[in-house]
Amino acid sequence: MLATRGYAAMTAKAALQPFSFERRKVGPQDVLITITHCGICHSDIHQARDEWGGSIFPMVPGHEIVGTVAQVGSGVKHFKTNDRVGVGCFVDSCRSCPACREGSEQYCEAGMLLTYSGRGKDGQPTQGGYSAQIVVDENYVLRIPSALSSAGAAPLLCAGITTYSPLRHWGVGKYHKLAVVGLGGLGHIAVKIARAMGTEVTVLSTSELKRDDAKRLGAGDFALTSLPETFTRLQRRFDFILDTVSAPHNYNDYVNLLKTDGTMILVGVPDKPTLLEPFPLILHRRRIAGSVIGGIRETQAMLDFCATHSIESDIEVIPIQQVNEAYERVLKGDVRFRFVIDLGSLK
Ligand code: NAP
Ligand code: ZN
Ligand code: ZN
Repeated sequence: MLATRGYAAMTAKAALQPFSFERRKVGPQDVLITITHCGICHSDIHQARDEWGGSIFPMVPGHEIVGTVAQVGSGVKHFKTNDRVGVGCFVDSCRSCPACREGSEQYCEAGMLLTYSGRGKDGQPTQGGYSAQIVVDENYVLRIPSALSSAGAAPLLCAGITTYSPLRHWGVGKYHKLAVVGLGGLGHIAVKIARAMGTEVTVLSTSELKRDDAKRLGAGDFALTSLPETFTRLQRRFDFILDTVSAPHNYNDYVNLLKTDGTMILVGVPDKPTLLEPFPLILHRRRIAGSVIGGIRETQAMLDFCATHSIESDIEVIPIQQVNEAYERVLKGDVRFRFVIDLGSLK
């Protein structure tokens, strides 16, 4: 075993604190990564506070991991020492079900093994990227293109792939109008990626303070969801809506903004359900859909796409000692647009 350290929530809702733990020893297929950066995803907060249920404690969160390869196992084919690599939301899957075979490991029938708050084949809980090192099977490791900075690339490992995958799946492109709901970590990357795909983007936000940011990121229009007139002005405007909102809100209001045959894609995961009204869906043959992250192959394609289009996350880099303050600021929507932990600060 390999002694390492990080920051953990010892129980639901407890502040994160320094924590020593062990990684498995590097097996033949494994890569040992020295973590340099890890993004703070809103899912880290949902899970550290056990808002979705099933969290495993103590929990070292973090699934937007970038670092350098420190050691490779004897059978590792695709990575060597000093390569710059990434790890996203999962570190294993069954590898044999139809989903795994087609590269959609996130939909593995046996369930993907989450990077943290999962339980590996050895029965041990997995621990995430708010830590000094991680050991991961090479098949679940990504390559970071040289055009991307480590800190700016880290959030792509979750926020990037979570928005890229549904846009690709539904073929969102040049002739479509897309609304992105919520301009946070996911939302701001969605705007950049959709613009690079040639899509016309409108940002729907609760915060007037984000109007200028939305325009700078490439949105053609911006509207406040606190104003009732938004929901009349934009009626039947969009082919697609990508909803990245982390808190409960009324989906029915947004469905009315879809054209006939339009699709609202949920990626945000509020901790409470919403009642759906059937008529707005039925009368315009509209759809509500969902999507979770993306497979390994697609995540690599997303990283390469972002390198080609010079897309990185807008970030605020913090030392790990500020992680609890950062959580509070994310909850207030007070971050432009992703906190990234510099693991060099971990003493
Ligand atoms: P974030 O940075 O906190 O952004 C969420 C945004 O939602 C906020 O910036 C805010 O945007 C809006 N919002 C927050 N509270 C709201 C409220 N009460 N009413 C309306 N809008 C509100 O979070 P994130 O990291 O982007 O994650 C967003 C959600 O996606 C989380 O629930 C997360 O767990 C989930 N997620 C899902 C996947 C997946 O695979 N499906 C992957 C990663 C994350 P404005 O200020 O613009 O209103
Ligand atoms: Zn995430
Ligand atoms: Zn599988």
